[in-house]
Amino acid sequence: MEKFDTLIIGGGPAGLMAAIRASSLGQKTAIAEKNHSVGEKLLISGRGRCNFTNAENDIDIFLAHYGKKGKFLYSAFSKFGPFRTREYFKSIGVEYVEERGKRIFPLEGGSQRVLDALLMQCRKYGVKIMRNTPVTAMRTKNGHVDYIVTENNEYKADKYIIATGGKSYPKTGSTGDGYEFARRAGHTITPLYPALVPVRTRETWPKLASGCDLRNIRLKVILDGVEIYSRFGEMEFTNFGVSGPIVMEISSLIPDWEGELQFSLDMKPSLTPEILIQRVKREINQHSGHGRFRGLVRSLVPSKMVSLILELSDIPHDKPVEYISDDEIAEFVKLIKDIRMNINGLWSYNNAMVTRGGVSLDEVEPSTMKSKLYDNLYFAGEILDLNGTSGGFNLQVCWSTGYIAGSVNE
Ligand SMILES: Cc1cc2nc3c(=O)[nH]c(=O)nc-3n(C[C@H](O)[C@H](O)[C@H](O)COP(=O)(O)OP(=O)(O)OC[C@H]3O[C@@H](n4cnc5c(N)ncnc54)[C@H](O)[C@@H]3O)c2cc1C
Repeated sequence: MEKFDTLIIGGGPAGLMAAIRASSLGQKTAIAEKNHSVGEKLLISGRGRCNFTNAENDIDIFLAHYGKKGKFLYSAFSKFGPFRTREYFKSIGVEYVEERGKRIFPLEGGSQRVLDALLMQCRKYGVKIMRNTPVTAMRTKNGHVDYIVTENNEYKADKYIIATGGKSYPKTGSTGDGYEFARRAGHTITPLYPALVPVRTRETWPKLASGCDLRNIRLKVILDGVEIYSRFGEMEFTNFGVSGPIVMEISSLIPDWEGELQFSLDMKPSLTPEILIQRVKREINQHSGHGRFRGLVRSLVPSKMVSLILELSDIPHDKPVEYISDDEIAEFVKLIKDIRMNINGLWSYNNAMVTRGGVSLDEVEPSTMKSKLYDNLYFAGEILDLNGTSGGFNLQVCWSTGYIAGSVNE
């Protein structure tokens, strides 16, 4: 049975970082990767541009992007945080640029540049990458991982790092296997949900505006009739509900809210109803005698939204504008500022950027990523019960925890 100092299950960003760190410290290191190639999800991250970290310098603001669980990362970030991550990538040939929302991207070459740089380091330090090697089981004995089983072999190591990722985009290889290995070994896996994922609505009319990107809108979350959350930004309608940046962010919180959940879309958040009524009246005056309600709608909302608004409004489409009453105007303005949708759940893991939930942080040492149940088992990356908002926060978890998990034997 071949034996290593450090054996990593999974060749995603977390596994690659752990392997580079361990091998650079002189460890005989191997990665068992089920796919033919490593880093498949990394390659599609940021639509192939790879938003690999975030330039937010305030550590508390940074950690708030992971919710209450963010504090688990204090120790890892003190050793290999966002700043060191940027410096590290620069040192291995990945120059970067900062974009909107402090998002950091490679200056050139996108995700492929990041992956190539990591693979170059793996080669430099002699990491053995065993491709097409799905791990099928992990054998444990008396608080110790004994060996792992792959489809064709068994491997032993002094130290094992599970970096198999989550369950989202399973076609990239992240099928949740690591959760099963950890669960069978006695670790607690907190409930798993797709996160950073589009949201389904009970209504079918969103498809009338499918593909319509809305900017500068406000989306409110209403739970059992009470507004509990509100975000300003961009969203889009889809064939089955809603998506886009603020919807994806909100999706990660939805499992926390039990009850009747609705979204309220305000298409004109900067205008009060009174000002909007004045604006509608001005439009009516301008088109009086030759305009129809349909045209009025066209003058007020993006063209892809027109069919949807006409569908939701009670005013006949071809009603001459001069016959539209004050009550109808008020109703129309109410609609524009409060398009209600009933939330019918999250879209599937196939469309989710990350998985919420994972190996319970209560059972992992924050300064080493070592299991509290096994003396030679570690975790890194998305398999941990940590998920961030979009903006480079999820890959940062991989770099920091991967580095720490690969470090411990120094
Ligand atoms: C479309 C999309 C875009 C994204 N964009 C961004 C972005 O721009 N910025 C950002 O911060 N985050 C982004 N993310 C999230 C980010 O890609 C993930 O958080 C990150 O890839 C997780 O890394 P990981 O190493 O933990 O796991 P993964 O990247 O999932 O890698 C796990 C690896 O383990 C392997 N594996 C699984 N099971 C086994 C097994 N049994 N045996 C052997 N190998 C196994 C898999 O094949 C895979 O190679 C995006 C995600 C998606 C889906």
